[in-house]
Amino acid sequence: MAIKRILIANRGEIALRVHRAAHEMGIETVAVHSTADADAMHVRLADHAVCIGPPSATDSYLNQAAIISAAEITGADAIHPGYGFLSENEKFAEIVEAHDLIWIGPKPEHIRTMGDKVAAKKTAGALGLPLVPGSAGAVETMDEIRAVAAECGYPVLVKAAAGGGGRGMKVIPGPENLESLVNQAKSEAKAAFGDDTMYVEKYLGNPRHIEFQVFGDGKGNAIHLGERDCSLQRRHQKVFEEAPSPVISPEERARMGGIVAKAMADMGYRGAGTIEFLWENGEFYFIEMNTRLQVEHPVTEAITGVDLVREQIRIADGKPLSVTQDELEFKGHAIECRINAEDPFTFAPSPGKVTAYHPAGGMHVRVDSGLYSGYSIPPYYDSMIAKLIVYGRTREGCLMRLRRALEEMVVEGVKTSIPLHQALVRNEDVINGDYTIKWLEEWLETRE
Ligand code: ADP
Repeated sequence: MAIKRILIANRGEIALRVHRAAHEMGIETVAVHSTADADAMHVRLADHAVCIGPPSATDSYLNQAAIISAAEITGADAIHPGYGFLSENEKFAEIVEAHDLIWIGPKPEHIRTMGDKVAAKKTAGALGLPLVPGSAGAVETMDEIRAVAAECGYPVLVKAAAGGGGRGMKVIPGPENLESLVNQAKSEAKAAFGDDTMYVEKYLGNPRHIEFQVFGDGKGNAIHLGERDCSLQRRHQKVFEEAPSPVISPEERARMGGIVAKAMADMGYRGAGTIEFLWENGEFYFIEMNTRLQVEHPVTEAITGVDLVREQIRIADGKPLSVTQDELEFKGHAIECRINAEDPFTFAPSPGKVTAYHPAGGMHVRVDSGLYSGYSIPPYYDSMIAKLIVYGRTREGCLMRLRRALEEMVVEGVKTSIPLHQALVRNEDVINGDYTIKWLEEWLETRE
């Protein structure tokens, strides 16, 4: 192994997740942290720690110069970006490589292509992935948008090429308000991303969100690790994820997985990636590719037995993929609940001091979290404080175990989404796997 010391350019549970994989491989870790995170668990556990700035992420976790300096001072030879922050910043990836450090992530050119949604859609189409019907590329004029909309049929969605987190996106129900809605989407995109390039897609009425985990060695070999169903979302934020999807048969998994794995092999993709689709009436429609590890990766680990972070580190180190497609087996069922420090039903943030903490345990129960009793959840960052991942031989068994594990979880001092999950795992539609991307928001409305 050439990599001896990894700098983890992230915080929270994912920083801890990377630390754990590294230590299991005999690799040292360097934590970088803001002043607000001086007492964080990953900082305590890492072999070395460097404070890189004040609480604001712009001045700390996004401070590229400070992170590179920290790597040089501590003698790190590789950087793992986690998810969010700099993980999909191709310029940072290039800077890391220009400093003779190993970037534990995809090739910068692939981060760039997939980060531009118009380019990503073109690339995906050329690689043979099924697309949502819509404009062939960016649209310039209102007339062009009208023409595409008329051809696909209303409702349509205008989306920002630079979009992310559901911003810069507007549904257009019919030709009447088209102009004002397009202008709204454009100004939102301009404000959020500094780029108001738009494209148009048919708006799918009631799809599921199904994504495939892929892995490439950067040399033309790639595998898929099956799908995750992340349809339970609120404001485009995933809340509860499972693998496999309740609606995908083994044959369909093998067929679609084969298509995405071939696409990644043809591209020469390196490292972990996720190809996101909407799924409606048995058809897949590509929406985007994320060139990083996902929050929900543990459900895939649970049903395949593959440690995805270890695999990322191995690939970055120039090793081959540790499993072939034929060796991969999908076994059992896994569900992840994202636990946020917020009111479970109004979603108002609830940072503050955790006065008591007891994670769930027992067979097939995993809690990824940097929480401990006495820890103060800072108000500056993402509200996710823990992930509860439960495995079962069957989906039914998994749900039973999840109910039991949720009963055991104790987080006192702040409000959390645990009560939301307790309600979800007792809901008939969730039990039946009968939900789409609209389900959670509609259910929340009927509760009020
Ligand atoms: P972002 O990068 O902003 O998250 P995505 O393209 O991944 O944008 O879309 C985010 C979410 O918006 C999807 O998970 C889905 O809920 C919804 N969405 C996106 N495209 C469509 C579409 N063509 N029809 C219906 N819903 C869509």
